[in-house]
Amino acid sequence: LERKAEVVVIGAGSTGTSIFYHLAKSGAKRPLLVDKAGQTGAGQTSRSTALIRTHYSVETVARMALRSYAYFKSFDETMGGRSAGFVETGLLICADESAKAPLLENLAMLRRLGIPTDEVDRSRAREIEPLLDTGPYAAVVYEPNMGYAEPSGTAAAFASAGAELGGELILNTRATAIARKGNAYVVSTGAGEIEAEKVVLATGVWSGPLFSRIGVKVPVRAVRHPVASFKRPPGYRGKRPVILDFARSAYYKPEGEFMMFVGSLERELDERGAEVDPDSYREDIEFDEVGRFSECLAAAVPLMGRDGMYKGGYAGIYDVTPDQQPVIDELSEFGYEGLFALVGLSGHGFKLCPEFGRIMASMVLGDPVREYDISLFRLKRFEEGKLLASKYSVGTIG
Ligand SMILES: Cc1cc2nc3c(=O)[nH]c(=O)nc-3n(C[C@H](O)[C@H](O)[C@H](O)COP(=O)(O)OP(=O)(O)OC[C@H]3O[C@@H](n4cnc5c(N)ncnc54)[C@H](O)[C@@H]3O)c2cc1C
Repeated sequence: LERKAEVVVIGAGSTGTSIFYHLAKSGAKRPLLVDKAGQTGAGQTSRSTALIRTHYSVETVARMALRSYAYFKSFDETMGGRSAGFVETGLLICADESAKAPLLENLAMLRRLGIPTDEVDRSRAREIEPLLDTGPYAAVVYEPNMGYAEPSGTAAAFASAGAELGGELILNTRATAIARKGNAYVVSTGAGEIEAEKVVLATGVWSGPLFSRIGVKVPVRAVRHPVASFKRPPGYRGKRPVILDFARSAYYKPEGEFMMFVGSLERELDERGAEVDPDSYREDIEFDEVGRFSECLAAAVPLMGRDGMYKGGYAGIYDVTPDQQPVIDELSEFGYEGLFALVGLSGHGFKLCPEFGRIMASMVLGDPVREYDISLFRLKRFEEGKLLASKYSVGTIG
């Protein structure tokens, strides 16, 4: 493998495939997409619960989420009949006393942005999900248009559409180093060298080694996140709303006809959770994690406590930054013009992948990004103490 390219994207998850597609669509000459795995979407993308929402407290991120949602909504038309598997279920965001004020402040901000979302009282919340115990909630907000998508399918769709537009996929190929060569870069891989004018890193939780090789420190911690799956009984089948339950620090995602996925909204997990090695960590779910998720779910939806059935679980990893927002940057401030990074997605980056791709393709091709102030996401912000502030204590909610 000896190649010359205008631009090479490393990492074929939801982020890298979207960048690859948007580059090809915007006229980049034969962009290359490289991944160490044998298929696209095989990293954390494949472990994602893939919830899609616009509810964020950082306004710029909410605006990115809104545009991304619109993309998912019309994905099939835009992407030549390819599907992202988007299912609109509605989303209930349920706050305890401590999350009530930020929830309602956000609601006002999101409504200003034109997002259909409303506060609902308990009886309306129970109409939306009759099985939900609303007892501990001080406020509930409903986003009727939100839901979830199919994460690996989305990555595959972006990759194949990018290839159709002239891009090239190089799988089973690990990038081991990046080095400067004049105004270009040489990416070393196990199978030879790729010379490219521009390089984009979309390497998620595996980014550390590549950054260390160029002497750039990225404060991203790899934190394990378990997910448990349950089977829903006959009284709780079909399309049901997703629930973010701040009171019980958990989220519940009813998927398809009868599955239910449960994950954590515990702030401690990201702030104090032990850092793990992405190539060697406990990928299954632990006994006490199953216990905790089962208790939360049984309290929130008592029918699940009686008749739900535990089916299994697994753990993925979040690439957590200090403000739990991504790095979207060209590393010119570190002396690397033409080297770009979109990493540190902090457990909420799937839903944003359409906009991530569009934004990064513009940056790489030198077109101004007019819709947002992308400098907010510079890597230097951590050194300078200019962190993006979330109104929530759970940073993943952003
Ligand atoms: C359990 C769980 C639940 C989640 N739930 C949600 C959710 O509900 N909503 C949401 O929006 N987000 C969610 N997320 C987060 C979201 O899934 C991720 O932010 C997103 O999918 C990350 O995509 P990525 O492309 O950046 O990373 P990845 O999918 O991990 O892709 C990185 C790719 O880079 C490749 N790679 C890395 N290093 C190299 C190298 N040196 N050479 C070649 N290839 C390399 C890897 O093989 C991999 O394919 C969740 C994540 C997890 C783990």
